[in-house]
Amino acid sequence: MSSILVVGSVAFDSVKTPFGEADDVLGGSATYFSVSASYFSPVNVVGVIGRDFTNEHQGVFKRHNIDTSGLVQTDGETFRWKGQYGYELNEAQTLDTRLNVLETFDPEIPDSYTDSAYVFLGNIDPVLQSRVLDQIKSPKLVACDTMNFWIDSKLDDLKRTLARIDMLVINDGEARMLSGEANLVQAANKIRAMGPERLIIKRGEYGVLMFNEDSIFGAPAFPLEEVFDPTGAGDTFAGGLMGHLARAGDMSDSTLRQAIVFGSVMASFNVEAFSLNKLSALTRTDIQGRFEQFKQLTHFESL
Ligand code: AMP
Repeated sequence: MSSILVVGSVAFDSVKTPFGEADDVLGGSATYFSVSASYFSPVNVVGVIGRDFTNEHQGVFKRHNIDTSGLVQTDGETFRWKGQYGYELNEAQTLDTRLNVLETFDPEIPDSYTDSAYVFLGNIDPVLQSRVLDQIKSPKLVACDTMNFWIDSKLDDLKRTLARIDMLVINDGEARMLSGEANLVQAANKIRAMGPERLIIKRGEYGVLMFNEDSIFGAPAFPLEEVFDPTGAGDTFAGGLMGHLARAGDMSDSTLRQAIVFGSVMASFNVEAFSLNKLSALTRTDIQGRFEQFKQLTHFESL
């Protein structure tokens, strides 16, 4: 089974939703991604943490057998993000971003990771995403995330990264912003012309669309009775998606569709609790059970 290399943020998040709040809890794109993907495949994480990131915090990586030899600890404080959500829970409003140790982060890929077949470039500066790619020999699949912040401030750098990747995983607002198109099908055409052959557009509680070759696949979000905290849903989704692809070892349309559903399954668990409280305590049986429920949810007979 191939390992996945992920580069992204490791964070302390402070989050407020209409249903509660949590202060300085474990978060970050690389954290959510790697814990989610670890249920499917071996994961190697590259990122930076500050001196305030204790052994106890690192425990979550260890418990999931995530290789942290690329997680560098430097002087200073760990990246911090503060956000809140309204009742519809679909879009985070960023209240504060403190880059801290991320400000001077220059990802160095350990030698043992440079032949990674599966690479996920989490949401960080697109210049750093490109620098990571410079160090990988011949990846089989490179997927990437980004956010409005980079589309706004570093569009040219982002376009240079997009030209080098196979798959982009972004939300609908970002797809519209990046393409300048309101219609998502037209937005997808424009974005795919920038480089990524496959595009996955996440639409929060409305599910996800995948544009692959000539086909479009749509999956709903799992209808949950209670959602506490959507933070990390996107990265958790990407973790399940890449995890399944690396485990399966092929990129057929049918495997990609399964991967979209596994991503949706993982995201649905994650939003049921703050931080990684639920995501980090799952079993394979929980995951498989909800995968089957998804099949039920979307199944219908042809006439
Ligand atoms: P999402 O999956 O989009 O909900 O991602 C949420 C995670 O992204 C949080 O745990 C934050 O720590 C992290 N995050 C928010 N803003 C940034 C940023 N500018 N750079 C890197 N990570 C970020």
